[in-house]
Amino acid sequence: MRTLIRNGVVYDGTGAPGFAADVLVQDDTIEAVAPELDAEADEILDEAGMAVTPGFIDTHRHCDTAALVDPDFGRIETAQGLTTIIGGNCGLAPLPVRPETARQISDYIEPCLGPTPETMQMAHFPEYLDALDKTDKPLNIGSYVGIGTLRACVKGYGRAPFTPAELDWARGYISEAMQAGATPPARNLFHSSARRPPMAVCWPPTSAARGTTLCQVWPRLLKSPRKRACR
Ligand SMILES: [Zn+2]
Repeated sequence: MRTLIRNGVVYDGTGAPGFAADVLVQDDTIEAVAPELDAEADEILDEAGMAVTPGFIDTHRHCDTAALVDPDFGRIETAQGLTTIIGGNCGLAPLPVRPETARQISDYIEPCLGPTPETMQMAHFPEYLDALDKTDKPLNIGSYVGIGTLRACVKGYGRAPFTPAELDWARGYISEAMQAGATPPARNLFHSSARRPPMAVCWPPTSAARGTTLCQVWPRLLKSPRKRACR
């Protein structure tokens, strides 16, 4: 499919001022950007008076569940110019889920992510990627490791510290998820699970020194989360 976009003002994403140009696209590749392109195309769009830009990336989305259950998912996003979105924000993710803590996790994420079908109870991040691959989405989707969900999955909401076995499970989950393509753990200082120590020691799994640093920094942030989080 060859598309010629004519007469728009191109903002190329570098921060440079917009400039008048035509854009020739072959399938998903930009072939040419130049004034008054003369090229054969299957489709010619006259975008006079419109801005022509690369797709926008929204790094803070809570669409993790919707991406799997909403048949119209992506329509609103692409209408806003979004072509890549990142979920798993604020420590909230639909996985990992284990039967013992499934109810607690569902209660935890539902206010933000919506109801989670039982069929979405997944304990390993690659399962989530496989499920996304089976859907027909018009945009790219990435995800953080949701540290709040991970904590709830391993520990529920008790205040007892992690046992070595629980830490190993959490570390294993993070490593597996990141090897599969997840972005690093994300947490939120306001949600209840984030205030339960000591999740921070779970990362990084191979560096005791950096893990210790996180342990020291995060409790300080928790003393004044609103003030620090706004910086
Ligand atoms: Zn958020």
